[in-house]
Amino acid sequence: MTRRLAVCLLAGLAASSVFAAQELPHFIASRHFSVQYESPYPPAGVLNTLEGLHAKLLLDLLPFAPWAKDGKIQVVLYSSAERYRAVEVMPAWAGGHVDVKARRIFLFEGDEFRRTMAHEMAHLFVQDYFAARGSVPPDWLNEGVAMRMEGDYGGAVSSGGRELKEASPSLEAFFNLNYRHAAQRPEEVALWYGQAGSLAGYLMRQFPRGQFVAFCDRLRNGASVDQALSAAYGLAVPDSRALESLWRESLENP
Ligand SMILES: [Zn+2]
Repeated sequence: MTRRLAVCLLAGLAASSVFAAQELPHFIASRHFSVQYESPYPPAGVLNTLEGLHAKLLLDLLPFAPWAKDGKIQVVLYSSAERYRAVEVMPAWAGGHVDVKARRIFLFEGDEFRRTMAHEMAHLFVQDYFAARGSVPPDWLNEGVAMRMEGDYGGAVSSGGRELKEASPSLEAFFNLNYRHAAQRPEEVALWYGQAGSLAGYLMRQFPRGQFVAFCDRLRNGASVDQALSAAYGLAVPDSRALESLWRESLENP
């Protein structure tokens, strides 16, 4: 979880495209990816893994990133966490980051590759969608979609409904919690991520996809959460109070 915190502490920075492009010595490509890598050989099956994740994420997120159907995503793949953190000047707990403007994802080889890639690719699609209107997604939505993609397609184990039911704060507090605040305890941050993934998943999965897209479209055009819920979900979820009771009910009947 600290790893996730780190990834997302940096999300805002990454969005402004301040990262210098480091050239790694080797290169391979597939239909949707150009991969620079550092090791003498690329990880076995890396392009298949990337294309497989891409196809799965687009089942959910194509309306957010129509360009991704034919466009290319740049991947900068370091040989180890240490190399990634040293060259990209990342903190010790960073797992990966995105440069939205350049459509580039930075990460490193290892057991977490698939999971991190699903998470960061979701960030790329969602942040790019909001950037098209000159805005940024709310943190909870950005991280929530990324957590859901990580859980559904990246092989991560999602946090339990029971813990969310018993310990998660009200949605009002949740929407207002600044998870970047240094004073947040790691358990609170972990819970926040779990709640974000569960809530975004609820809005994505319990209703036709077009309603979730409409909700995000309203948000990127400046609507409040309540306005966007009402416009996209109508009487089914007219405001965040209704969302809270429906979502909590869903935790009891998963
Ligand atoms: Zn994240």
